[in-house]
Amino acid sequence: MENQSHMDLELRFGAKNYSPLPVVLARGEGAWLWDVEGNKYLDMMSAYSAVSHGHGHPRLLAALEAQAAKLAVVSRAFHAEPLGPFLEKLCEVTGLERALPMNTGAEAVETAIKAARRWGYRVKGIPKDKAEIIVADGNFHGRTTTIVGFSSEEDYKDGFGPFTPGFVTVPFGDLEAARAAITPNTAAVLVEPLQGEAGIIEPPTGWLKGLRDLCTEQNVLLILDEIQTGLGRTGKMFAHSHEGITPDGLILGKALGGGLLPVSAFVSSHEVMATFGPGSHGSTFGGNPLAAAVGLEALKVLEDENLAERSARLGARLKRALQGINSPLVSDVRGKGLFVGVAIDPRYAAARTVCERLMARGILSKETHETVVRLAPPLIIEEDDLDWATREFRAVIGELESECVPSEAQA
Ligand SMILES: *Cc1c(COP(=O)(O)O)cnc(C)c1O
Repeated sequence: MENQSHMDLELRFGAKNYSPLPVVLARGEGAWLWDVEGNKYLDMMSAYSAVSHGHGHPRLLAALEAQAAKLAVVSRAFHAEPLGPFLEKLCEVTGLERALPMNTGAEAVETAIKAARRWGYRVKGIPKDKAEIIVADGNFHGRTTTIVGFSSEEDYKDGFGPFTPGFVTVPFGDLEAARAAITPNTAAVLVEPLQGEAGIIEPPTGWLKGLRDLCTEQNVLLILDEIQTGLGRTGKMFAHSHEGITPDGLILGKALGGGLLPVSAFVSSHEVMATFGPGSHGSTFGGNPLAAAVGLEALKVLEDENLAERSARLGARLKRALQGINSPLVSDVRGKGLFVGVAIDPRYAAARTVCERLMARGILSKETHETVVRLAPPLIIEEDDLDWATREFRAVIGELESECVPSEAQA
């Protein structure tokens, strides 16, 4: 009952730009969530990877509370105590040289685009306003007007044009197509190492390494959007670590805020960052003391708790168990670490239906692209809880199979 009145209020006064599952959450702790009626759910979604540390991580809450009480926001008109250590840690963790803090993922992507273009003009010597950035089909980099302009998803762009020129789309995972798309005006290749929103799509092994070599050879920046795949999600600190490469620019967000705040960053080299001078770029809230303190602690917790290794171990366990489900409903199980997509054959059931059935059993997840159920719990999830979720998933599939298959046979 209570759930319903809250949902009615959102529907009455909100813009309808989401279609959430019908649950109203009130509290979270670790990998668990409670709704306003007191029902308990296992979070198998972790806010699109923003909650990799779990809800209310004690160390992150302590960092947040201590910093909030001391100093929260001063703008970049002044230096502030926690920012230097946060930037230093970002560089140490990524193996890069300079970091530029922003708030949301999309802002960090915009920052990367600006950096790539300026580098293209000032370092590479591309003629004014001719810079091109190569992106991948099926990409998701956020929701600003520039970013949706180079999306291949009609829903994301319909009615929002005219769009920013200067982007060239090639198929994801196709190295030869990227090679063919490079011109003397190419400033950067901007891709996700593994596509999340597109449905947990893994490129062929070696593609990223090939892109790295190609970009080096052609004097083009390789910029990776690891907003969702970074910070342990795929079983290594970064998805690109699986191929042992270093990008020229790395975009982080989501889990960087420890599940508490929007914190993002563009991290790159001295050479690329040197293209920004005072006045060229900024953000009122970017790198504020509160965000910096929480971001720093979020990076330390990832290391201290070996969350990337945990993701690798538990993710392999999850994937193995899901691959063991023998059902015509499950057409594919894919992903790395605790970043798993289960493709549901739409002839039998919609991924949304699977998510609704999971919810009824106390598990929260969300479909992506109508046919894929994303299973990406907080990296701190307990093994027993994960095993329970896997058993429930199997039960849901069994339930739907017993309902759907006979009706198909009759038809
Ligand atoms: C979520 C996401 C973004 C956008 O982040 P926001 O914080 O929602 O702006 C960009 N790129 C990728 C890969 C993402 O998953």
